[in-house]
Amino acid sequence: MFGPKTYADEDLAREAMEAIRWPNGPVCHHCESKKYYATKKVGRYRCANSKCRKDFTVTTGTVMERSHIPLRKWVEGFAIMCESKKGVSSLQLQRHLKISYKAAWFMSHRIREAMREGGMTPPPMLGGGGKIVEADETYFGKPEEVYVSPQRKGRPFLKGHKKRNSRPIVSLVERGGRIRSFHVASADQDVVTNIVRENINHETRLHTDESRLYARMSEEVAKHETVRHAIKEYARGDVTTNSVEGFFGIFKRGMRGVYQHCKEKHLHRYLAEFDFRYNHRVAMGVGDGVRALLAIRGAEGKRLTYRQAH
Ligand SMILES: [Zn+2]
Repeated sequence: MFGPKTYADEDLAREAMEAIRWPNGPVCHHCESKKYYATKKVGRYRCANSKCRKDFTVTTGTVMERSHIPLRKWVEGFAIMCESKKGVSSLQLQRHLKISYKAAWFMSHRIREAMREGGMTPPPMLGGGGKIVEADETYFGKPEEVYVSPQRKGRPFLKGHKKRNSRPIVSLVERGGRIRSFHVASADQDVVTNIVRENINHETRLHTDESRLYARMSEEVAKHETVRHAIKEYARGDVTTNSVEGFFGIFKRGMRGVYQHCKEKHLHRYLAEFDFRYNHRVAMGVGDGVRALLAIRGAEGKRLTYRQAH
């Protein structure tokens, strides 16, 4: 679909983007009309629906809208971020694409947004049909706001509150299948129960550790089985949480290696990136080119304003 030639030629890049977004020809973003006029500007179309008549391009209504970065650099940016196994820093993008650091930073966050599940259509439930889903929680990052107790006269209260102050992540992984991760304000029983209810098909076997967070899970799924990490039990028959723990390992190593500085408000985007990579891994039959194509498709319906990107 694209390669070095596309990265060097703006018209080829635009045509590649158009072929991905509109396999059957341009469609008006505003009213979905398939009838359009060409305008004097290449790549700009005018809707032929007399009630609409608005102009649109291949980036209208996507994370690339109103960006001044040339399309050929966007295409290459998508390819670089989708080929990488561990992630790509803004600095690497800046050097490789010869754009400013600020532009690279915006681009990488917009591409992460494109990688996020959902957008135009809600993602399907995980599990079902007796499949196994593993659920687990982890904590990542340093606290940004230290809890200060009024009784302690302004001295930060940290001891024993590490978990409270770092950032909880809850992930659900289908055994041999897809993952879905959540950055939550706090990982408590209600939060975790809601995530399971909204994302896992009832006809699922759920595997977790013995944490009290999962105490009410038997009401949410066909069968809830636990491994008891407290007595060093990591697998009992096919009951294990190894897949989800493996993902946490990949996520944390990647974040430490490439993204040293991650503000809490951006954590969900990095999670979306790691989820995307996991969901479109080679073992799932997805090659580099197809992965980039899927990410570009995900750019639609997810406009990201300047303010949101910050
Ligand atoms: Zn229209």
